[in-house]
Amino acid sequence: MKPMKAADGVFRVTVPTPFAVGPVNIFVVVKENKAMIVDAGPNTEEAWMELKEAFNVLGLKKDNIDAILLTHHHPDHTGLINYFHPDTPIYGHRRLIPWLEKDPAFADQYKNYFRSLSIKMGVPKEFLEYTPTVDEYLKFGGLGSVHTLLDEGDRVPGFEEWQVYYTPGHAQSHISLLRDDGVFIAGDVLLENISSNAIIEPPYNESDEAPYTLLQYRDSLRKCLALPIKSVLPGHGNAYVFQDDLINQKLLEQQQRREKIYLLIKEGKRTTLEIGMTMFKNSWKNQLDLVLSEVQGHLDWLRAEGVVTVNESGGVWFYKTN
Ligand SMILES: [Zn+2]
Repeated sequence: MKPMKAADGVFRVTVPTPFAVGPVNIFVVVKENKAMIVDAGPNTEEAWMELKEAFNVLGLKKDNIDAILLTHHHPDHTGLINYFHPDTPIYGHRRLIPWLEKDPAFADQYKNYFRSLSIKMGVPKEFLEYTPTVDEYLKFGGLGSVHTLLDEGDRVPGFEEWQVYYTPGHAQSHISLLRDDGVFIAGDVLLENISSNAIIEPPYNESDEAPYTLLQYRDSLRKCLALPIKSVLPGHGNAYVFQDDLINQKLLEQQQRREKIYLLIKEGKRTTLEIGMTMFKNSWKNQLDLVLSEVQGHLDWLRAEGVVTVNESGGVWFYKTN
C-alpha cells in the first residue's frame, strides 16, 4: 500500500501482521532532510516489503533514517528494526529494554509469572497451552538495544516539536507523542474502532507488585483528555479527528463491563476463567491471553473498590461479592 499523508510531514504506512488485531501502522516523520520512523511493524518479510515500497515512493533510503522511535514493546510495533542500518538510533521507554534485548532471564520470569497466574485465574492444566507465552514476542519482535531513553516531558531528539507522554496500561513501556500543532501519535492508547486491552504484565522487579494495568490505562486515557490533541494517528486504523467523546465512551464502556462482571460474580461465577468464558463465549479459546487480561483487570478494579473479595483455595482465586 502507498504511504498516505496522515498530517503535515507525517506519512502512514500500513503493514500486515500475523495477529488478530490486523494491520499495524508505521509513521514516517519527515522534516528538512531528516526522517524518523515511529514503530516498526512485525518481523515478517511481508511487512518489510510494504515498508520498503513506501520508502521508494517517499524517496527515502533505509540506511538514511535518522531515528526509530518505538511507542511500546509489542511485537507488531518493533519487528522490522533489524532491517535498518545497525547504527540507526532507537528511541523508547526504559521498559522497552528487556523486550528488545530478548533477555532470556526476563523471558523465563515472564513465562513463569503467567503460568502461575493462569492457575490462580482458574485455568486448568490442559488449557495452559492457550495462555500467553513470550514466543510470539521473540519471533515477531525486533532484537536490539534502546539508544536513547524517553519519558514523560522529554522532547524527541532531532524532532523537538514532538513531546513525549508516558501512557502505560496497554503496555508498561508505552509512550505517545504530541506535536506542538496538536497532532498526536498515539500508539495503541487511543484506537478508534478497536478496543485496546490493558494487558497484564509481571512486575519488572520481582519484589514489586504487578501493575494494575486497567487502572493505569484509565489514568492514561484521562491524561489524554487533558492534552490539546487535535488529530490522532493511531497504531491501528485510520487517522481521525480527536473528540473528547471517544475517551469518555471508552471510560464508560469499561465501567459497564465492570458492572457486568460484578453481576456475574453475584450470579455465582467465581474465577477469572469462568467469567471470561461466559463473557467471551466465542473468542475465549482463540484469545485466551487477552480475555484473561481483560477480566482480571476489571476484577482487580472491583477488588480495589472493596466491592468484591478474593479467597485463594487450592491455588485458585475465587471471587465473591461483599
Ligand atoms: Zn500493542
